[in-house]
Amino acid sequence: MKIYLLNPPFLPHFFRDARWQDTGRAGTHYYPVWLAYATGLLGENHQVKLVDAPTWNWEREEVMVDIQGFQPDVVVVDSSFPSLNNDISIAEVIKEKYPQVKTILVGPPASQFSDSILRSRGIDIVARWEYDFTLNEIVKALEEKKNLDGIKGTSYKQDGRIIHNPDREFTSAEDLDRIPFVSQVYSRHLNIKDYFLNYSLYPMVQVFGGRGCPFQCTFCCWTQTFMGRKYRMRSPSNVVDEMQWVQENLHQVREVFFEDDTFTINKKWVLAFIEEYKRRGIKIPWACQARADIDYETIKAMRETNCLVLVVGFESGSDVMLENMKKGITVGRARQFIQDARKAGMPVHANFVIGLPGETKETIGETKKFIKEANSDAITVAVATPFPGTEFYEQAKTNGYLLEDNPSEFLDKQGHQKAIISYPDLSNEEIEKTVDEILKGYYLSPRYFPIFLRRVFRRYGWDELKSICRSAKAFLRYILKRKA
Ligand code: SF4
Repeated sequence: MKIYLLNPPFLPHFFRDARWQDTGRAGTHYYPVWLAYATGLLGENHQVKLVDAPTWNWEREEVMVDIQGFQPDVVVVDSSFPSLNNDISIAEVIKEKYPQVKTILVGPPASQFSDSILRSRGIDIVARWEYDFTLNEIVKALEEKKNLDGIKGTSYKQDGRIIHNPDREFTSAEDLDRIPFVSQVYSRHLNIKDYFLNYSLYPMVQVFGGRGCPFQCTFCCWTQTFMGRKYRMRSPSNVVDEMQWVQENLHQVREVFFEDDTFTINKKWVLAFIEEYKRRGIKIPWACQARADIDYETIKAMRETNCLVLVVGFESGSDVMLENMKKGITVGRARQFIQDARKAGMPVHANFVIGLPGETKETIGETKKFIKEANSDAITVAVATPFPGTEFYEQAKTNGYLLEDNPSEFLDKQGHQKAIISYPDLSNEEIEKTVDEILKGYYLSPRYFPIFLRRVFRRYGWDELKSICRSAKAFLRYILKRKA
């Protein structure tokens, strides 16, 4: 079978695979990670093509010309909440022109809106939740001209009816070890230099060490609409195999970035990974997302084996807010983590979110104070967006905080997050203003200068400088557009 996996055109440089899906304020640009994993698995038995239209600035016309050239049997269309209507409409255009092609929609909205998605004449099948193995089975059934009734995680149309098969169990650790390395898919289908994380060496590859997260954060759409709470990690040797492959084959790649929040929650796993990395004499630097509950010993061991930065979701400097959002961490624990990271010489990129239920001017004040005190190497601040399917969305809806229930309205004209919730004591305008204020207060104040010096005078200082310049340019562009 010939399978065309499409990250569909939307706003230029829009990325669907970040927690807060938008076009980024600091030049960050994600790989179409999940579609790439599925491409790897399907590519074992089929002819596949992965197309990243927002990154290549492709419009619909270019996609249609490309499909004409490839002549696929199946088109897999990725989706995200803000782009869902757009994504469905692209599938409709494809289906209208090529009625014989089977169209499959994937992505977080698929688990929430499978029924309404299938009411579109453009979509034949929906693969709900985690989808690589589901797609594999769907394509096999289509190839063998069998029906889809035994394929878990699938919704589809049959004789004018919409059928929803039961959910599929999430993958196991063994399943994850079976999936081909995503870095190989990137190198075959994409241009590695198109992707940029403002906290990583450039160019980098974004990889998952595992999937799923057992924590309960109310706002997290990954756990509640896509990858679930079942925690499963690849084996340390499989992860290091991929790093070795990158080191030996992708010479332009400077860093492997582990995107999973759960990379550090099992100390035993982290230490086994580090041991394997050292034993094989791997040299390529790496970095990861982490929770602020790793102990000093682990941070130190990570730092000593080329881990360049920890990207940490602190989210708030208020214990009330951390409890409200069920982060499972206290400000006191976060402070301890910062001290330990400092002692171990580990740089920290801190993430925050403004506007979750319970946010007030007072809690914002506590977050601002915490940001100052943490003095981390960089920060990201997001506007809290209640994605359908999350506990946060239900809270916002039940309490009448939601100003907009149409995911297509979640972004402003430039593709940046806008606040779509308003509380009695904190309006949507105040939430947006606060996010901009915190970012400007951090990066455009004299206090940033010592942080800047600290970054450019360490081991990869020249790379850090280039990365800071690139992010600063994107951030200033964002500020000017907001002003206009
Ligand atoms: S720690 Fe919270 S935000 Fe991070 S993946 Fe887990 S549930 Fe989501």
